[in-house]
Amino acid sequence: MANELRFDGKVVIITGAGNGLGRSHALLFGSRGAKVVVNDLGGGHTGGGKSSAAADKVVEEIKALGGEAVANYDSVEDGAKIVQSALDHFKRVDVVINNAGILRDVSFAKMTEEDWDLIYRVHVLGAFRVTHAAWPHLRDQGYGRVIVTASAAGIYGNFGQANYSLAKLGLVGFAQTLALEGAKKNVHVNAIAPIAGSRMTETILPKELIDALKPEYVTPLVAWLCHEDCSENGGLYEVGGGFFGKLRWERTKGKTFRVGRSITPETLKQSWDDVVSFEKADHPANVNESMAPILTNVQAGPSRG
Ligand code: NAD
Repeated sequence: MANELRFDGKVVIITGAGNGLGRSHALLFGSRGAKVVVNDLGGGHTGGGKSSAAADKVVEEIKALGGEAVANYDSVEDGAKIVQSALDHFKRVDVVINNAGILRDVSFAKMTEEDWDLIYRVHVLGAFRVTHAAWPHLRDQGYGRVIVTASAAGIYGNFGQANYSLAKLGLVGFAQTLALEGAKKNVHVNAIAPIAGSRMTETILPKELIDALKPEYVTPLVAWLCHEDCSENGGLYEVGGGFFGKLRWERTKGKTFRVGRSITPETLKQSWDDVVSFEKADHPANVNESMAPILTNVQAGPSRG
């Protein structure tokens, strides 16, 4: 295909690539010239067990299509080993796709510390450890792309997923800060909130939806965000079933009281409509834009009237 976006010579680590979304990403990168580290612990969808079969199968699939790939069976909690595997086999690392995940869905009232901790360790600590081990390599070579896999459950909340919501929205903040820290070195970090039929969602969604929401609908976004030609950095995207959209923050114009005057709960109650009305709104894109109206008001000082 003319102008095909390729990854020749690039080394791509994909965690949790033995199934679902990760497998789909691995096959696409493998088909476009990348050398792929197919990481998968091979456990169950709630975190128990271990097997090499899932990663091995995807490596075979990539090789059968003429691509290059190696399997790695470490948990993302041992992120440095996964990055070492890329260095040992392919001598470099260019792209890190933090995709590995499990669920421990239970209402907050019934959630145990184990449910909480396991989700944190796989999604958050795992993404930290893999990305942290790759980070100096990406920076030193002046090119790197990192993806974190967030979720609508983190952005909007979802019943029975307090642990998962924390982890997934935490990853968005993580990505946004890394995006700032990596920008000068051409290391871009973006977050996706996908929806796809997989063993993770097959117990939640009806079969027709599972069949329709193929992971392959998510992968093109991941590939584009990771390509050298793509300058996007620090973004959050919802993606699935053929839909691709970017999110941003929206904040009401709010209500500003000059400093120095007494502001009571009653004053606030009276102005509440102004505080919460989105009729006019801002879209702060960074901490400076977020702070601007606050600083302007403070610098204006107390009212004279
Ligand atoms: P999946 O269960 O099909 O695949 C996840 C893979 O991660 C599995 O192969 C599993 O063995 C692997 N894994 C789990 N723990 C691991 C660990 N500690 N180390 C290494 N590998 C590990 O699920 P999926 O739907 O493809 O999910 C992929 C990612 O997308 C997850 O982070 C998930 O939270 C996220 N996500 C999925 C959906 C969806 O609709 N499927 C929605 C939002 C977010």
